[in-house]
Amino acid sequence: MAEIERARRLLGRVTAGIPESANPVTHVAEQPARRARCVDWPEWADADVVAALRKCGVDQPWAHQIEAASLAHAGRNVVISTGTASGKSLAYQLPVLSDLVEDEKACALYLSPTKALGADQLRSVSELEIAGVRAASYDGDTPMAERDWVRAHARWVFTNPDMLHRGILASHARWSRLFRKLKYVVVDECHGYRGVFGSHVALLLRRLQRVARYYGSSPVFVLASATTASPAEFASRLIGQECEAVTEDASPRGARTVALWEPPLLEDFSGENGAPVRRSAGAEAGRILAELVVEGARTLAFVRSRRGAELTALGARRILSEVDPTLAEQVAAYRAGFLPEERRKLERALLSGELLGVATTNALELGVDIAGLDAVVLAGYPGTLASFWQQAGRAGRSGDEALVVFVARDDPLDTYLVHHPAAILERPVETAVLDPANPYVLAPQLACAAAELPLTAQELDTFGGDAARGVLDALVADKVLRRRPSGWYWTSRDRPQYEVDIRGSGGDQIAVVEADTSRLLGTVDPGSACATVHPGAVYLHQGSSYVVDELDLEAGVALVHAEDPEWTTSARELADISVLAVQERVDYGGVTVCLGDVAVTSQVVGYLRRRPSGEILDQVALDLPAQRLETRAVWYTISDELLEGARMAAEPEAGRAVAGAEAQRPAAGAEARRPTAGRPAAEAEAQRPVAAGEAGRPVAGAEARRAVAAGEVRAGVAARLADGVGEARSGEAAAGRGGAAARSDGALPGSGETPAGSGARAVEANRRSAGIGGLAAEDGVPAVAAGTDPAETGERLTGTGERPIGTGARSAGNGGDPAETGAPPVRTGGGSGRTPGGAGLEPARIPGALHAAEHAAIGLLPLFATCDRWDIGGVSTALHADTGEATVFVHDGHPGGAGFADRGFAALVPWLAATREAIVSCECPAGCPSCVQSPKCGNGNDPLDKAGAVAVLDTVLGAVRQHGSRYGHVEVQAADTAATS
Ligand SMILES: [Zn+2]
Ligand SMILES: [Zn+2]
Repeated sequence: MAEIERARRLLGRVTAGIPESANPVTHVAEQPARRARCVDWPEWADADVVAALRKCGVDQPWAHQIEAASLAHAGRNVVISTGTASGKSLAYQLPVLSDLVEDEKACALYLSPTKALGADQLRSVSELEIAGVRAASYDGDTPMAERDWVRAHARWVFTNPDMLHRGILASHARWSRLFRKLKYVVVDECHGYRGVFGSHVALLLRRLQRVARYYGSSPVFVLASATTASPAEFASRLIGQECEAVTEDASPRGARTVALWEPPLLEDFSGENGAPVRRSAGAEAGRILAELVVEGARTLAFVRSRRGAELTALGARRILSEVDPTLAEQVAAYRAGFLPEERRKLERALLSGELLGVATTNALELGVDIAGLDAVVLAGYPGTLASFWQQAGRAGRSGDEALVVFVARDDPLDTYLVHHPAAILERPVETAVLDPANPYVLAPQLACAAAELPLTAQELDTFGGDAARGVLDALVADKVLRRRPSGWYWTSRDRPQYEVDIRGSGGDQIAVVEADTSRLLGTVDPGSACATVHPGAVYLHQGSSYVVDELDLEAGVALVHAEDPEWTTSARELADISVLAVQERVDYGGVTVCLGDVAVTSQVVGYLRRRPSGEILDQVALDLPAQRLETRAVWYTISDELLEGARMAAEPEAGRAVAGAEAQRPAAGAEARRPTAGRPAAEAEAQRPVAAGEAGRPVAGAEARRAVAAGEVRAGVAARLADGVGEARSGEAAAGRGGAAARSDGALPGSGETPAGSGARAVEANRRSAGIGGLAAEDGVPAVAAGTDPAETGERLTGTGERPIGTGARSAGNGGDPAETGAPPVRTGGGSGRTPGGAGLEPARIPGALHAAEHAAIGLLPLFATCDRWDIGGVSTALHADTGEATVFVHDGHPGGAGFADRGFAALVPWLAATREAIVSCECPAGCPSCVQSPKCGNGNDPLDKAGAVAVLDTVLGAVRQHGSRYGHVEVQAADTAATS
């Protein structure tokens, strides 16, 4: 099997010269080849259509194509959910074309999320040259003169949701010919309709159906999707009707070797707060691309940004030019603004081998026929497994083995994935999340629906029933709609469709305009404008770089000029969160987990300039107004008893360790290092499921109480640490200063006195919480530690000292972490009482521990909620006014939410377990971007306590597992971890 050896040889080539001790490959998996299953053409298919398809190279169809096509032909809604290059187009081309041939008045609509894909699909239908079909595109690029022709004559209209919304439904009377005989609606790449955009599209498709019904047609939906979990359920939610799924892929596939790759930590650089920095995934991808090109392998490298793609191609060319200048010529990047012909020329050059290496951003920009390559390099996780496999699927032809290399970026999700291969290789692809009942989406959509045709009471069920009724009442009260006995009416002459941006989250968009030319470059959501287009921000548009000169929120304009500075910018944002309503609340004995509505108030107070290497240049102050976002959040609270209660064997010597020193101590021990060497027993122990229900409710540690009674000031405490959403996606970060509101232990029951000085500190901290910025070191951990009498600390901590992650003490002595074993309160070491399952955190460490746990959790939620980490934000605080306890919030970044927080609540246990794993998998000593640092931290990534975060997560997971079997969180865990661990 020479072919199988080839992928191994390619992998050997890219790792050649790297010493084994520094081997970046964390895992290699072989995926076997799959043989094709072909079937005959169905009887119902039109003979001319079959002949045309045969002529274009499809001699015999695959089973899944005909299964889906036959369902559609029989009038059943169907979603075909199979891999890349599995011929999904044929599944809708066959029934649509057959019916268009049979009934010369029948029409069809095709929707794709991007113009490029739509253009490719139109071309492939046109090339079949079937008489009378009159396929035509109708999108933003269609010339006005042609639009009239399309409306009057086209029978298969290729468009996108935006155009359907503004151009077709808004003036449906002009499209009555199409609507009267609308036989099929094809929804291509439907897995892309998620989050707020997906929720809009779901309602848009309901609007489409009621307009079609009005003209007397009831189209069949044919949806094409990448492989996802429960495609039928997702597709049904998207179209609002029953939908069947075809998922068994009968196309042939070559064997694949998948290698997971973690770039090394750099030695000569350090990042924020001295954290280590990894070599960038883009640079690493460039090097791998060069090696593969030397081997003659046709390779596609997927990089996150277009500019990144250009840098990757440039890096590869630079390496190759030293080897052989002609090889350097064979590497290219997709450049911004490629015309379709240029794009196809590049694709043809790659397929023919004239070009060997191409760096690009994402699959949707590529033509559908780019497949069968020798290798694919993914620089960074593309956000969903569906995209991962879609990109990986560009490699491999029947009979050939292909190489796929996944290079981790330095964020916790990528870290988790390269150390937990099963989460990539064995997990079912996630379901896309959308929430058509989001009132922020429903309101504008119902206004549009009413403007298209008056809404009747009977129709409300398709728009979410009660949710729609509530929203309609509000629209009537606001005089947007008028209620009449026969229904709800739009009364204005203006069309609401022009005001409603289905890709944004409501509100007037901020226009980004090049000052010199008055050219409109793009728009940004008003909610994220302060963070993305503040003065001084570097704004990327189609691979070109601009710097913002002015942001005028009232006029809705950001003025920019072209400039490509040597840095990226990242907004630093202060945020506060308040709970508006609690929908779900589950009590796990000292830990509560909630889901509900929150208001996030945020203010961008400055920005950071940072070199691509991670090096920070400086921080610049800004004066911008505060923004308010009402959205959904999932949060957990932990009682002080649990946070401070001991969790492991005593270590008297640790008693004197003050927080700052402790937090910075390396996370020593083998399991904190690269786990390819196998996980030591301590770690395995910690992961073992828990026997629930043995331990009683936690009791407060007597030690702690004694310390309180003695007037020991409990640490500083309520530093509220916020991580906003929506910052520029160019890899920036944000930090503002969360205010610190210290409280003294004098407030606790049983405490008799407050030591002198603590009051002053509280005042100082409150001053900061009033929004006065300061350096992290002042209101963070060290300030508190400094104010603590070491003698008292020593006494208080005797026997309860915590350890950094991975010292192995957890499973020693006590027989394991009480949180994991469900053991009753243990008395060891100092002999004092301690809280079972507690985090054992000295109070001064609590803010940093919660903050680090929050960061990593934001990073890992996309694994469960098909969102981007930029779609969500978080706030952590050692004392929250609404919960009265230490609280970690993770919230949606869109008004009303997009279903992400809800998904986090439902998948709490696997989500937090993966979060913990991502942290312990990272070999850095005290926190870095691959684990607990966040690129968008509102607090400058400080304080952060990596070891403390693990203790917090263990405590939460321990409590949920111990008390949780009644509530469902554990069941979710069982279902999801079966696939992830
Ligand atoms: Zn790290
Ligand atoms: Zn933060």
